[in-house]
Amino acid sequence: MPQIRLIPVESGFMTSKAGALSEDATSEMRFPIACWIIEHPKGLVIFDTGLHAELQTSAARLGSLSKVFYQIDMEHDLKGAIESQGIDPAKITHIVFSHLHFDHCGGTAAVPNGRIVVQKAEWESRTTERFRNNASYRACDFDLGHDVEEVEGLHDLFGDSTVICIPTPGHTIGHQSLKVELESGTVVLTGDCCYWRRMLEEDLVPPFGYDLDLQRKSMETLRQFARKGATLIFSHDAEQWAGIDGKPLT
Ligand SMILES: [Zn+2]
Repeated sequence: MPQIRLIPVESGFMTSKAGALSEDATSEMRFPIACWIIEHPKGLVIFDTGLHAELQTSAARLGSLSKVFYQIDMEHDLKGAIESQGIDPAKITHIVFSHLHFDHCGGTAAVPNGRIVVQKAEWESRTTERFRNNASYRACDFDLGHDVEEVEGLHDLFGDSTVICIPTPGHTIGHQSLKVELESGTVVLTGDCCYWRRMLEEDLVPPFGYDLDLQRKSMETLRQFARKGATLIFSHDAEQWAGIDGKPLT
């Protein structure tokens, strides 16, 4: 099996009332914006590009959403966050988007040479009325002229079954998660199919989304991977992220 490393990249933290994000609470919550780099012998992949660099100094870019996510803390922009892990962003060959919300593709400009790999339905949705009218989307963050590979369904990135896009629609029309085979076992990067563990345990979904019933079905897909022994890594789980502590998984 090829040597693969999974390297955490911290795009920053946002603070919000948790009830704005899932049904599970109304208390204030500070949560990470987790991106991951997959180092594979045939390429360097980033799964999601986090927050836009401008948010480091001003939340104005978020418009009305700056009231929901009322505090943003970013130690680095994405370029700095990638470099802090000893990686040159220009060497990243693939950008896999879980979906096109502002906290998952905001840093795309920092990865100039990556080919975007995204579900076709998700990529096509960027031109729809629904997209343009939703403050969570900013096409100018990610629609920057990169090569784009629109995939449909399961997609084996390197043809060796080690890095596979898994469709998990519902949160958005073409949301996907990413399954990675490490020496220590299988990992599934859930993206926003599930923000944090408690959502999965208590079957909670956010108060918004493309199709919440579909999201619940996709969460069941994640549970099935977990039952078979996979480790799920969530997109915004503060406790899990603190435990990872910036250290690569192998
Ligand atoms: Zn998110």
